[in-house]
Amino acid sequence: MQYTIFSPLINDILNTSMNILQGVSLKLYSTMRLGGITEYLVCVKTRDELVEAEKWAESKQLPVITIGSGSNIIWRDEGYKGLIIVNKIRGFKKLSEDETSATYQVGAGENWDNIVAKTVDLELQGIECLSLIPGTAGAAPVQNIGAYGQDVSQTLVSVEAYDRMEASFVNIANEQCNFGYRSSRFKTTDKGRFIICSITLKLSKLSVAPPKYADIQAYFHDKNIALSTSSLRKAVIAVRRRKLPDPSKVANCGSYFSNPIISADHFKKITKKYPHIKKARPGWPQPAVWELPDGQYKVGAGWLVEEAGFSAFRDHATGMKLWPKQNLVFINYKAQNTKQLVEFEQKITDKVYEMFQINLIREPEILP
Ligand SMILES: Cc1cc2nc3c(=O)[nH]c(=O)nc-3n(C[C@H](O)[C@H](O)[C@H](O)COP(=O)(O)OP(=O)(O)OC[C@H]3O[C@@H](n4cnc5c(N)ncnc54)[C@H](O)[C@@H]3O)c2cc1C
Repeated sequence: MQYTIFSPLINDILNTSMNILQGVSLKLYSTMRLGGITEYLVCVKTRDELVEAEKWAESKQLPVITIGSGSNIIWRDEGYKGLIIVNKIRGFKKLSEDETSATYQVGAGENWDNIVAKTVDLELQGIECLSLIPGTAGAAPVQNIGAYGQDVSQTLVSVEAYDRMEASFVNIANEQCNFGYRSSRFKTTDKGRFIICSITLKLSKLSVAPPKYADIQAYFHDKNIALSTSSLRKAVIAVRRRKLPDPSKVANCGSYFSNPIISADHFKKITKKYPHIKKARPGWPQPAVWELPDGQYKVGAGWLVEEAGFSAFRDHATGMKLWPKQNLVFINYKAQNTKQLVEFEQKITDKVYEMFQINLIREPEILP
């Protein structure tokens, strides 16, 4: 259902042949299903349409935000006074192949999991652990999506984008994307500058490495099946379905906090007060803490939330709750607005800070 007052008459007033919608509810463009109204919204299916939309916004001096399927964004209640571009540029094309690998160009508007399924069917490996991550291919490099030891930067060759600053199409090589843990230049230094049109992935024909994660290993152990790219995809899907809500049915944006990184000194202080942080606990799929090569420590955000007493927290005051099977997932079960979500978030971050002096960092973006 689209919430629109578009008509040919409005099209004339807007002075464009494009199907620009006016007054659209942004709830329809975030899997958290919260937020106000955008002044304008357009879906683009080609590079030409993208340039036209960009020029139209420029002529009206309107700001622009490009989105995919809204699974990592939450809209403010105030809405947006500008143009939202929904990227629907499709495509899946083989660029080259040799004995050990194949390279594919993928349109930004393709559904990410469909692309994983296609490459697994082609017996290519490199993104199978990223199965069932919601969203589009074009958004994948923005936060360098990752799961079960893989992230998209490991297979991404380059990104083709429209550079809004230079008004031209550019190719950005992997090394120029400044990839980090759930991060890239598209999310940080160059936020809003590039509209990604396609990504190029180089996938391997070699055999897949054994899984390192306990819950995936347990799947193979229980089912007693041989390891292949296809069985690994099935394992990841089964484990994710067990743990995570389906955003088409339950309003959520996946993990709400990324795992914070703290100094060795800070970690020492925490272990004095909470020595059990180092102990593996039954039923906990990952350790609560990882030592990083640079001597810092990554702490499980889910562990912090649980230790702070918020396990399966359901807050009637805000209409928000935590997913009982995964404390990191915020669920909007009856929230009326984004303000309530922020209040809910604050309750958790304040308590975690009070106990651990750690600022939890939100993973989904609140826009604009
Ligand atoms: C249930 C659930 C599970 C999840 N699990 C994981 C997980 O395991 N690992 C993980 O990393 N993430 C996970 N996520 C987060 C989310 O799926 C990813 O961040 C995904 O890449 C978002 O894709 P999208 O198309 O919905 O992007 P959107 O939410 O629409 O946009 C996200 C950001 O990318 C920008 N953007 C989108 N498209 C473009 C483009 N074409 N050009 C330039 N900028 C663009 C937007 O402006 C915004 O800043 C999960 C989310 C949910 C709901």
